This record gives sequence, structure tokens and C-alpha cells, in this order.
Amino acid sequence: MLQSLRARLFLATSLVLLVAMAGLLFSLSRVERAWLSDRNADALARSAREVALVLERTREASPDTLAAVLAAADSASGCRVTLIAADGRVVADSRADAGSLENHGDRPEVVAALAGRIGMDVRHSHSLGVDLQYVAVPALRPSPWAVVRVAEPLEIVRALDRSLLRVSALAVVSVLLASFVLAFWVSNRFAARVRALETVASRIGSGEEGARALELPSDELGRLGAALNRMSGELRARLRALEHERDEREHILAHMTDGVAMLDAGNHVVHGNASFAELLGAVAPAMPGMPFSEVARSPELEDLLARARVAPGVVEADLRLWSPRQRFVRAVATRPDRERGEVLLVLHDLTEVERVDRIRQDFVANVSHELRTPLTSLRGYAETLLDGGLQDEARREGFVRVIRDQAERLQALVDDLLSLAELERPEAGLRAERLDLRVLLARQVAVFRAAAERSGLSLELEGGGELELSADRARLEQVIANLLDNAVKYTERGGVTVRAGGDARMVWCEVEDTGPGIPHDDQPRVFERFYRVDKARSRDKGGTGLGLSIVKHIVALHGGEVALRSEPGAGSVFRFELPRG
Ligand code: ADP
Repeated sequence: MLQSLRARLFLATSLVLLVAMAGLLFSLSRVERAWLSDRNADALARSAREVALVLERTREASPDTLAAVLAAADSASGCRVTLIAADGRVVADSRADAGSLENHGDRPEVVAALAGRIGMDVRHSHSLGVDLQYVAVPALRPSPWAVVRVAEPLEIVRALDRSLLRVSALAVVSVLLASFVLAFWVSNRFAARVRALETVASRIGSGEEGARALELPSDELGRLGAALNRMSGELRARLRALEHERDEREHILAHMTDGVAMLDAGNHVVHGNASFAELLGAVAPAMPGMPFSEVARSPELEDLLARARVAPGVVEADLRLWSPRQRFVRAVATRPDRERGEVLLVLHDLTEVERVDRIRQDFVANVSHELRTPLTSLRGYAETLLDGGLQDEARREGFVRVIRDQAERLQALVDDLLSLAELERPEAGLRAERLDLRVLLARQVAVFRAAAERSGLSLELEGGGELELSADRARLEQVIANLLDNAVKYTERGGVTVRAGGDARMVWCEVEDTGPGIPHDDQPRVFERFYRVDKARSRDKGGTGLGLSIVKHIVALHGGEVALRSEPGAGSVFRFELPRG
């Protein structure tokens, strides 16, 4: 096409040049011919006047002398000389016999000369048989002739004209050839610049960064180059903005916990984020073009997608997915663009929500269950008292004591529940102060000593030295009290030993007992709320099932950890560590 553009340019220029040069040559030839003819006429007029002047002197000459003068004038000027009388009769002629010539009174040049002007004409001479140019002038004074006419064969002028035309044609052809070469060079250069612009445009189109068009020379093509460069800059800026926007979107999608995927009309993945594959338990990420059935084998989801393709709005369902571990998800499918048949599938992971919900339900059931026993007991004993028990002096005190014990149990339960609620509040804070763990341990050991002695148990605090840390005094006392309470409560023989120590970073404390120990299967669960190894025994001992859960919460709030080492039948060791800071 460019080739043809170059050819077309060259052809058009050449054609214009050819026509212009032909026109020029034509006009030149006309001007030359007119110029030659004018010059020749002037020369003939001069010759005629000179002959007239010469004849002036020989006005009275004999016919022979006149003939000799005419012959001399003819040979001097190379022109035929004719003398014509006022009535048009030929008086003498240098090349013909005057008597044989017809009357010249009607010849245009003679008519003009008789009227006193210089007369001119070009025509074929019948007497000589050639084309002649005639110029006639009036005689200077009255003579036998009134007009002196000279004539020259046109052949001479024409020969001159032809040679002039040849020279002009040669010049025009040379100019034409030079112009063709110039036109070829110009069209070649023009086509090359257009080709260069085309190359740059396609490089810009393919997104090449450094593609720049020539802006010089600053003609239309130069300006087109500048416009291309501007367009390329704007394109790059827009492309960068779009890429930035796309990256941001990808980033958001990639870091979303919800699984998001776009599926085409044939259920192939158009785009899917990492969470989508993860929620479905797919081994590889959902790559574009992958059939959905390869990402997830879930008939329920496939059914949901099929419904979304025909439903007018959003279709959603709560599903249990069996990816490596069980997941509970809410799947929402919509068609963002009805025309294209694509479906947007969003999976919300509700596993944690469901777990928290189940814990809440279990908790309510557990609390109700824990409350029911003492309340039933309270009601039973109160009714017994009302139904005559008050009159039974021997047993009524016993009944009232049971009522008090059950009320205390209720009190303990409510206190522990309040403590837990307080600790679980998101804004639960600590009133931290500098304190010595050993001082706290000594105080709590002293508190529990009486209870231990009542059960025939030893209670020792080993080691010495300060163990300073920053902690909430009341809560830390609660931790120690709960651990000591359990140790004393569940140990029947032997004793309880409390040890403590620390390094630059943290302090630790162990409460060791010689009690029944805790079975290995139960050990990971003893810190759960209401979890008891031996329910009846715990209740008998006035336990609420919340003590260790409270311990775990408080230690965690301090940034520490609690652990249990226990062998069934060989006692237990509860250890907690707290950072000093
Ligand atoms: P409780 O109020 O029942 O003692 P905890 O949360 O303090 O509740 O303890 C949970 C369970 O862990 C107890 O019911 C008991 O079965 C077991 N347990 C706790 N401490 C000991 C211990 N020192 N020796 C044996 N079993 C223990």
C-alpha cells in the first residue's frame, strides 16, 4: 500500500510536470514564432524603407537602370522587391516580369501602404510557388510607383523557428527529467516517513514503552509524529492508571477472606481469588479457564450456579462443604451482566460464626444445667421445711445448712460467671502494678493452709528471693487461689507444693499435688468452661467447672501461658508463666 502511495505520488507529480512542461513548450513555441515573425517583419520593413530610399535617388531612371537597382537590392537583402503603382499595377519586380503580374491593388499589404501605413501579410505566392512574408511601405515622394514591397520566403523564418523549438524542447525535456528525479526522491522520502510513522504507531499499539516518532521537519508529517508521541504518552499514563486500578482490585480480591469467583456461561473459571480455592479445599488455585467441577466437587454449588443462571435476582444457600476439614459457608450467586451469562459466586465462611454460636448455645445450656441442681435442692429443702420440717427440731438445722450450702454454691457459680464475663469483654483491661509474685504466693498459701490441714495435707512454698513483675494484683491472686483450691480440693493424701522462679524476661509458678491426676484424654479440655473430669466429685467439692477457664483467661490477658503436666494416679502439676514487663 505504501509502495502504491509512493507510486501514486510519483505518478501524480510526474503527470502534473508533464502537462505543465508540454503547456510551457507549446506557449514557448507560439511566443517564439510570434517574436520571430515580428522581428522578421521589422527587418523586412527596414529593407523596404532602405530600397525606397535608394529608389528615391533613381526615380527618373530608365527601366533597365531600375531593374539593375532592384536586382542589386534583391541580392543585398535576399528579398524579392516589387514596385507597385497607385492603381495596383506592378511597375517592376526583382524576380518576375512586371508585365506578367496581375494587379496588386487588392493585396492587403498594398492596401495598407497605399493608405500611408506599413502593410504586412503572409501568404502563398502563386507566381513563385512558395509561402512568402510581404511588407509594403509607401514611396517617399510621388514616383511612377506608389508602393515599395519586399517579400521573403517564409522557409527561412520557419527553419529558424524549428531550430529555436528544438533548443526549447531540449531545455524542457532536461528540466522534466530533473523534475522526475526530484519527484521520485520526494515521493520516496515522503513514503519512507509515512512508513516510519506506521511502524511507530504499531509499536505504540503493542504497548512498547520507548516507541517515539520523528517530529522534524515540522511539516504535517512532523506534526503527526508529535501527535503520535503525545497520544503514546497519554496512552501510557492511562494504561498505568488502569494497571494500578487493576492491581488494587486484585490486591483487595486476593486478600479477601471471602471466596470470590467469576464463572463463564460454560461454568469455567474466569477469575477466582485465593480464598475461593482455599474454602473449597482445592489443591491448586482456581486458574482462568479451569472447569468449575475441577475446583470443587460440590453438587449443591453446581445446583446453585444452575439456579442463578435462570433466576431473576440473587440466589443464596447455606452449605456444609467437606474440604479437608468441614466448613460451613453461605454461597451467594448473581449474574452481574445478564447478556454475557457469567455468574459471580461469593462464598462467606461461616464456620467460625457457627462455632461461636454453638459455644454460646452450649454455654446457655451448661449454665441452666448448673443452676438447676442447686435451685432444685433449695426448693426441695424449703418445701420440706414448710411442710412440717420447721417443727422437726432434730433435722431442721440440717435442712437450713443444706439450703445455705446450695446458696453458697449458687453464689460461687454466679461469681465465676461474672468473672468470666468480665474477662471476656473485648475491652477487658488489667490494672497492672509492680508486685512480688512470691509475696502473693505466700499470702495465698497462708489462706489455704487451714483447709489443707483440715484435709490432712501438707502445703509448702519452696524457694526464696523476690519475683517482681507488673501484673493485676487481684486477678493474679485469683489465679493462684483457683489452682490452690483445686489442688487442695482434689488431693486426698500427701500434700501440695508451690514453687516459683524466673529469669530476666519472665516469672513462673508451679502448683504440684499428689492427687488423682488427670487422664491424658481430658488434659487438653480441662481449661474449657464447665469441663469436669469427674462431675459428681467436682460438684461434691463445690466446684463450678469454671476455675481453670478463669485461670487461662487471666494468664492470657497478661500475655502469659498456662500448662498442665499430669499422670493419672500420680498427681498433677499446673504451671503458669508471666512476662515481667
Ligand atoms: P472445678 O470448679 O470443677 O474445679 P475447674 O475448672 O477448676 O473446675 O477444673 C476443671 C476440672 O479439672 C475439675 O472438675 C477437675 O475434674 C479437674 N481438675 C482440676 N484441678 C485438678 C487437680 N489439681 N487434680 C485433679 N483434677 C483436677
